[in-house]
Amino acid sequence: MMAQYLAIRAANPGALLFYRMGDFYEMFFDDAVAAASALDIALTKRGTHEGQPIPMCGVPVHASEGYLLTLIRKGFRVAIAEQMEDPAEARKRGSKSVVARDVVRLVTPGTLTEESLLEARRHNYLAAFAQVRDEGALAWVDISTGAFQVMDCPLPRLAPELARLAPREVLACDRGLDELVTDAGAALTDLHAGAFDSGAGTRRLCALYGVETLDGFGQFSRPELAAMGAIVDYLDMTQKGKLPLLRPPVREKAGGTMQIDAATRRNLELTQALSGGREGSLLAAIDRTVTAPGARLLERRISAPSRDLALIQARHDAVAGLAGDPRLMADLRAALARVPDMDRALSRLALDRGGPRDLAAIRAGLTQGATIAARLPDDAPDILRAAAADLTGHEDLIDLLDAALVAEPPLLARDGGFVAEGHDEDLDQTRRLRDEGRGVIAGMQAEYAALAGVPSLKIKHNNVLGYFIETTATHAERMRTEPLSRTFIHRQTTANQIRFTTVELSELETRILNARDRVLEIERAVFDRLRAAVLEGAGPIGQAARALAEIDLAAAFADLASGEGWVRPRLDDSRAFMITGGRHPVVERALKRKADSFVANDCDLTTGTTPAIWLLTGPNMAGKSTFLRQNALIAVLAQAGAFVPARAAHVGLVSQLFSRVGAADDLARGRSTFMVEMVETAAILNQADDRALVILDEIGRGTSTWDGLSIAWAVMEHLHAANRCRALFATHYHEMTALTAKLDGVENATVAVREWEGEVIFLHEVIKGAADRSYGVQVARLAGLPASVVDRARTVLDALEKGERQGASRPAALIDDLPLFRTAPPPPAPKASALDARMKAVHPDALTPREALDLIYELKSLT
Ligand code: ADP
Repeated sequence: MMAQYLAIRAANPGALLFYRMGDFYEMFFDDAVAAASALDIALTKRGTHEGQPIPMCGVPVHASEGYLLTLIRKGFRVAIAEQMEDPAEARKRGSKSVVARDVVRLVTPGTLTEESLLEARRHNYLAAFAQVRDEGALAWVDISTGAFQVMDCPLPRLAPELARLAPREVLACDRGLDELVTDAGAALTDLHAGAFDSGAGTRRLCALYGVETLDGFGQFSRPELAAMGAIVDYLDMTQKGKLPLLRPPVREKAGGTMQIDAATRRNLELTQALSGGREGSLLAAIDRTVTAPGARLLERRISAPSRDLALIQARHDAVAGLAGDPRLMADLRAALARVPDMDRALSRLALDRGGPRDLAAIRAGLTQGATIAARLPDDAPDILRAAAADLTGHEDLIDLLDAALVAEPPLLARDGGFVAEGHDEDLDQTRRLRDEGRGVIAGMQAEYAALAGVPSLKIKHNNVLGYFIETTATHAERMRTEPLSRTFIHRQTTANQIRFTTVELSELETRILNARDRVLEIERAVFDRLRAAVLEGAGPIGQAARALAEIDLAAAFADLASGEGWVRPRLDDSRAFMITGGRHPVVERALKRKADSFVANDCDLTTGTTPAIWLLTGPNMAGKSTFLRQNALIAVLAQAGAFVPARAAHVGLVSQLFSRVGAADDLARGRSTFMVEMVETAAILNQADDRALVILDEIGRGTSTWDGLSIAWAVMEHLHAANRCRALFATHYHEMTALTAKLDGVENATVAVREWEGEVIFLHEVIKGAADRSYGVQVARLAGLPASVVDRARTVLDALEKGERQGASRPAALIDDLPLFRTAPPPPAPKASALDARMKAVHPDALTPREALDLIYELKSLT
C-alpha cells in the first residue's frame, strides 16, 4: 500500500494528498504534519518507512468538505485519491492485493464547485495571464457558472484588472508576478511554459467546443489564445479529464468599462471595506438583490461600470420601468426570491458532481422564470423584454423534470427516493415489490408468533444477518426442538436473545433485496437521463439564469431608488458633472442607524470649459472626504446602471476614476506612507485623460508643511494644464486657495463650520469660497486634548499668525521670537507631594496588617 501511496504522491507534487481508506481520507509523512497543524487535528503514527515511524492523520469522508475549505483558505491545494474498485475485487486478486486508487481531482482555490466551498454571492474566478513578446492577455473563467472571458492586457494593466476581477487563483509561467498576484488577494499557480503555447491552446479550445476553427467566437491574439489554452489545460489537469461546461469565450472590449485602479477601489471601498470585509462597502450598502446570481451580477457591475452610453441608458430604462410600477416590482421580487442558483447547479451536473437537488434547482428556476416572463408586460423596457424572451420556451424540460422528480428530492442520487411515482412503470412495479415485501414480513411475524406460541417473537433486520426472527432464551427452547425446529433454523445466540431464520424468510429477503437494488439501479438510470436532458439544454438554461439575474438586479436597483429616494441620472457624452443634493450612501446609512441625518450637497464641475476643478478647504472632520467620495460613488453608480443618491445628477461619461488619500498607511508592503502616496499620485498624473474624474484628498500630507504644500500646488497645476480632467481636490493648505485667481476652471469651495463661544460646530455644508482658517485647535479640543495643551496651542498659533503677518518667512524664526516656547510650563500644583512624601516613608515589609490598614486610611485623608 505504501508503494502505491508513494507513487501517487510523486505524480502529484505541490498538493496535499487525500488518500482514501474506507471512510477516511488519510494523509502521511509531511502532508500529515502540515495538515494536522493547519486543521488542528491529531497527528498519529502508522507503521514505519525506512526505519522511521510514518506520521499520519485523517479526516472522515462525510465531513471532508469543511476540512477542504480550511485547507484551501490556508493556501493549500489538495489532490483527492479515491478507491477505484470495491475492496472485495482486490481481495479476489489475492490476499496481498491493494485496492486500486487514483487521483480523481485536484482541488485548488480557482476550481471549486461545491456549494459549501463557495460564497453564494461572489464569483470564484480562475485567471490566466500570458505574454507573447510585448503583448499580454488575461483570460478568466468561473467554472461554477461557466462564464469564460478574455482580454488584451499588457503587463502594466494586469494589477488594475486583477483588482477588478478579484480572482482566487492566477495561472502564469512567471514567478516574478508573485507579489503582484498576491497583492490582488489571489494564489499564483506557476505553470510550465508549454501550458501557454498558443498553437496548443487553439487546438485545446477547438476540441473543447467541438469546432474546426475559433473564428465563430471572434478573432483572438496569440497571447489571448495562450491564456485561454492554459485555463483549459489546467482544468483538464485538475478535473482529471472531466471538463466543466464552459460558455464560448467572450472577448472583452478595450475601453468598454470605467477604469478603476486597485488603490481607487480600496479607497472608495467599492466592494470591500478598508477593514477587509464586505460590511461597510458600497456593495453592502446598496445590495437589495434576492438571488445569488443577482448579487454576483451587482458585484460585477459595481467593479466595472460601463462606458457604453446606450447600454447604460437601457439599464436605467429598466430600473425606471420597475420603480414606476411598485406592484410589478413586488411581484417579480417575490417570484425571484424562490429562484435557486441555476448556474452553479448546472456546472455541478456537468462535472458529474450534481445530485437530484441540482435537477430540482433547474426545475424551480425555469418554473419561476416562466411565471416572471408571463408577468412582464409587452411594453416593458427593452432589457426586461429581452429577459422575458430568454425565460420562455422551457416548457418541455420543466414538464419532464416535474413529472420525473418528487417535490423535495434528497441531496444524493446514490440513496434513491427522488423519482416521482408514475414516471417510470418498471420503477413503480419494483418499488411495490420492495414495499409489499415489508408488509409480508409483518404478516409473517404474526404467523410465526402463533406457530411458536410466542407472542413476543419479532422479525428484525440488521446489516450482518439481514432479516431474522428473534426471541428470548426461555421461549427459544421449544423452537429448537422438534417439530418446530424443522421450520426455525438457528442463526445466532446473543447474551439475551436467540435468533432464527426460515427458508421462507430468506427467500423473501432475497426478493426484497433484489427489488431494492433494482430500484436504485432504475433511479440512477433516470437520473442520468434527466441529467443528459438538462445538459442538452445547457445553453438556453444558462441564458435563462442570466436573464433572471438581470431582472433581479434591475428590480433591486428600482427598490433601492424608491426606498431611498434616489434619482435617475442624466448621462451623456459631455464633460458635465453636476450633482444636486448628493449624498454618500454608506455614511448616510451609518448616520441613519444613529438617528442622525445626512446633509446633502451640490457639486458642479460643469464649467463649460475643461478642466474643471474644485479646491475644497475646511477643517478636519468637516466632511471633506465624505463629499469627495460621494461624488465618485455617484459616478460609479450611474454608470453601473443604478439610480443615484441625489436630487438630480448630470454626468458626462467618466472614462477613468482615480481616488487618492494622503498618507494612507501601507506598512504591510513595507513602503513608507509618503512613498505610497507619491507613487499613487504619479500614476494619476501619468494616466488621467480629459474624461477622467479625479479625487485627491489631502495630497502632500505625508511630509513637512512646505514640502507638502509645494507638492500639492504642483500636482494641482499639472491636473489643470496637462490632464485637463474633472477633479475634486481637498486640502488643508489654505495658501492654495490663491491658485483660483491664476487658473481658470479652478474654483474654491469649503465645508462650512460655525464658531460659537470658542467651539466649532460642523454644518457639513459645502459652499463656494475658501475656508478662512483651519480650526485645528478647536477640533483638537473636541477630541479631548487636555485643556492646558489646547490653551498653549492657541497661544502658539496666535504668535505664528502674527509673525506671518509681519513677514517672518519660516516658523523656525518665529519660534526663536517666542520666549514661551523655551520656558517650561509651571510645575504642577504641589497637591500630590504630601502623598509622595508619606509614601516614601513607608516600608511595606515592616508593616503589620493592622498598620497597613491604618496607612490606607491615612493616605486617603491626604488626597
Ligand atoms: P474630513 O475629511 O473633513 O476630515 P470626513 O469627511 O471624514 O471629514 O467627515 C467626518 C464625519 O462627519 C463623518 O464621519 C460623518 O459622520 C460626518 N459627516 C461628513 N459629511 C457629512 C454630511 N454631509 N452630513 C452629515 N454628516 C456628515
